[in-house]
Amino acid sequence: MASAPAPEVDAVVVGSGPNGLVAAVTLVEAGLRVLVLEAAEQPGGGLRSEQLTLPGFVHDLGATVHALGLASPAMRALDLQRAPDGHSGLELVHPPTPLGHAIDANRSAILHRSIGDTAAGLGRDGRAWRRMLAHLSANWPGLAASVLDATHLPPHAPRELFAFGVRGLWPASLVTRTVFRDEPARALFAGLAAHAAVPLGQPLTAGIGLMLGGLAHGVGWPVARGGSQSVADALVARLLSLGGELRTGHRVTSLAELPSARIVMLDLTPRQVRAIAGDALPARYARRLDRWRYGAGVFKVDWALDGPVPWADPALASAGTVHIGTSEQVARSEREAARGRHVGDPWVLAVQATVADPTRAPAGKHTLWAYCRVPNGSTVDALPAIEAQLERVAPGFRERVLGRYVSSPATLEAWNANLVGGDIGGGATDWRQLAARPSLSLTPWATPVPGLFLCSSSTLPGGGVHGMSGYNAARAALARLN
Ligand SMILES: Cc1cc2nc3c(=O)[nH]c(=O)nc-3n(C[C@H](O)[C@H](O)[C@H](O)COP(=O)(O)OP(=O)(O)OC[C@H]3O[C@@H](n4cnc5c(N)ncnc54)[C@H](O)[C@@H]3O)c2cc1C
Repeated sequence: MASAPAPEVDAVVVGSGPNGLVAAVTLVEAGLRVLVLEAAEQPGGGLRSEQLTLPGFVHDLGATVHALGLASPAMRALDLQRAPDGHSGLELVHPPTPLGHAIDANRSAILHRSIGDTAAGLGRDGRAWRRMLAHLSANWPGLAASVLDATHLPPHAPRELFAFGVRGLWPASLVTRTVFRDEPARALFAGLAAHAAVPLGQPLTAGIGLMLGGLAHGVGWPVARGGSQSVADALVARLLSLGGELRTGHRVTSLAELPSARIVMLDLTPRQVRAIAGDALPARYARRLDRWRYGAGVFKVDWALDGPVPWADPALASAGTVHIGTSEQVARSEREAARGRHVGDPWVLAVQATVADPTRAPAGKHTLWAYCRVPNGSTVDALPAIEAQLERVAPGFRERVLGRYVSSPATLEAWNANLVGGDIGGGATDWRQLAARPSLSLTPWATPVPGLFLCSSSTLPGGGVHGMSGYNAARAALARLN
């Protein structure tokens, strides 16, 4: 009997976001022949950077803040600061302050690297802030390993999980109401928790706030020098140096068109998986993917600025990230967007990367991006609302604008098909879809089809540039090969 032909490669990875690239590097490091296929001309997915506005101004299309990357066991193991021959290594640079929160023109709260300095600025809520975050920030490796590595509990997990745990399960709205007494600490915590992109009344949203706050104190919220593209470039350089292959400008439309391989790894969300896999998926699993819920979208604006943002509170000038809005605005914006409704005065998340990395703009100039949450697939122009919020806390902001690039949910989805309806998390991150991401299983990266795996942020542990979905998917695939 004739033996089956040898596969053309050992593994094909579809999509070169951080999870696809980390999966590919993990597989190639295990000695496999790996091919990565990417729809866009440029690799990186949520790590891409481009001169979107004016020559000399580098903007991140997606992620800018790499706290999760710095804490992630997978990214740390890759040690991307160490470059293969002929390439410069990745450099993460820190703004003087990780986060500022502009409540209104006269009030703000500052999250410093030092928990003591932060507590000192929060008046009578300072002690509660310290009590809530001190243990987590002092033990961030355990915290990161426990929360980001969804495959096992490391030996030190119980303590970190306890510090994180009980309160981490709470809705963030309960923390803001019962733990803090004044608006600065309430707004600061609400803004951190709102990165969950679900209403703050939902369980586990406090956990997101605790993790991001703990990381801000524990490791900082750095940016990548030159733009987040340099994180993708470092991953691609590692892949190629080990003999892996990357083909960009190659949109995959069907599993049938892929070269034969023992492993197929999809860095895609359930909607694209369904479209590409067609009838290959068993009916029950296909129905599960069909029921996948996408979360609210974002409306994003990138600006080229003639100078720094003219914040009313000068303390905000040194913060890499600035949240804008009262705690009530944060809660209302998230709640209404999830219900499919717009608010006229949304809370706004802004990132001024040039505060940490001046190489992204000509001398003396700056970049800024900001988004607000909108209903999934919204077609409403949120630019006026976002600029009004900025103008409120930084009077004269519009006069600094040299150029702007506006991204509606449709624009976002056009450059990256994973951003369905503008959802930047790969699917709603509520407790149900965290428990079953995308399906209820000890190895949620594996599908019922032998050799077919998912590795995007639609799998555990979810959104963010940490590469853990890719790493865990690759390990699951390698375990089944042996
Ligand atoms: C505006 C914005 C701001 C963000 N800010 C942060 C931040 O500051 N910090 C942070 O940690 N995270 C941030 N994120 C989230 C982070 O970018 C994502 O969670 C992360 O990129 C997900 O990685 P991934 O590999 O799962 O998918 P993605 O990065 O989305 O990559 C998927 C890749 O697959 C490709 N693809 C899709 N369909 C096909 C196909 N059919 N064939 C071939 N290729 C295909 C896409 O082109 C893309 O390159 C942000 C995201 C956005 C959009």
